Amino acid sequence: MYSSKRTRCLRGAVFSVIFTSLTPLHANDNTDSNKFVVKSGGASLNVFTHERPEGIDPAPFIYWVQHAADVVSDYYDGFPVNEAQVDLDFFNGGGTVGGSAYGDNGARVAVTVGSYSETGDLKHDWRLVHEMVHLALPQLPQKHHWLVEGLATYLESITRARAGDLDEAYIWRGFTKGMPNGLPLASEQGLDTSRRWGSTYWGGALFCLVADVRIREATDNTKSLRDAVIGIHHAGLDHRQHTSLSPLIEIADRATGTTVLHDLYLAAGSSRWNLDLDGLWRDLGVSSDGTDIVFDDSAPLTHIRRSITRVE
Ligand SMILES: [Zn+2]
Repeated sequence: MYSSKRTRCLRGAVFSVIFTSLTPLHANDNTDSNKFVVKSGGASLNVFTHERPEGIDPAPFIYWVQHAADVVSDYYDGFPVNEAQVDLDFFNGGGTVGGSAYGDNGARVAVTVGSYSETGDLKHDWRLVHEMVHLALPQLPQKHHWLVEGLATYLESITRARAGDLDEAYIWRGFTKGMPNGLPLASEQGLDTSRRWGSTYWGGALFCLVADVRIREATDNTKSLRDAVIGIHHAGLDHRQHTSLSPLIEIADRATGTTVLHDLYLAAGSSRWNLDLDGLWRDLGVSSDGTDIVFDDSAPLTHIRRSITRVE
């Protein structure tokens, strides 16, 4: 479900995480025992733990927000907006069950989290990073919703790999399993006209992966999708604004000195995508034997595959 006022996320896969380090918990606002302030990447995040059950320690949840914000700030060269609200709504259980990002009336993310989540539940959760990534992209017309969700789906794992939270094999296992869902069915045309869950989340994510690879190929691996999205961030655009796709692609392409996104949109967004996905995996040196991921380091794009998941 999508509206111009809310990006509600329905993706189902879960990536595992190994936490590295966490920055210190910031003191809560003395006037409200359910309000905390987290600083990250030049931004101030007001975190609310709504209806937190009595006796539930807020610290692990605030650490979780801090870490997710730091992961996103690191990738975007600063948090996507200078001020945001983070609403943690509690339910009686563990893990997370839903999330949304909002841009109208200020930047806000909301995640429903189990009050009995253990540290491991939060360490394994992708949802908060996903919602925070949404804050970096302006709101687009409905037909481009695949890019909204696809970028968040791709970057929720790439940003955490960069932070050292996910290992290389886990990333590519998730991609080789998920990305085929994004290929067009026989009855479908471009991503703009498909409304399937698979094309929205994984079609968009595949678009971002291919863009990342092609930008790196075109620039001798000196630029990447990260430069494109940072270009949007540095242009002062974020989820609080509405825009059409063309100027956004122009800004992003200018940031990499290529026409990769423009060309890829013509091939995949506005018309049916004829992508040789097996060929892409082969060139990247990624294959799966059904359970494990096997890397072929003699593949021509091995250096790009390694760069995509490199810990910075
Ligand atoms: Zn989403």
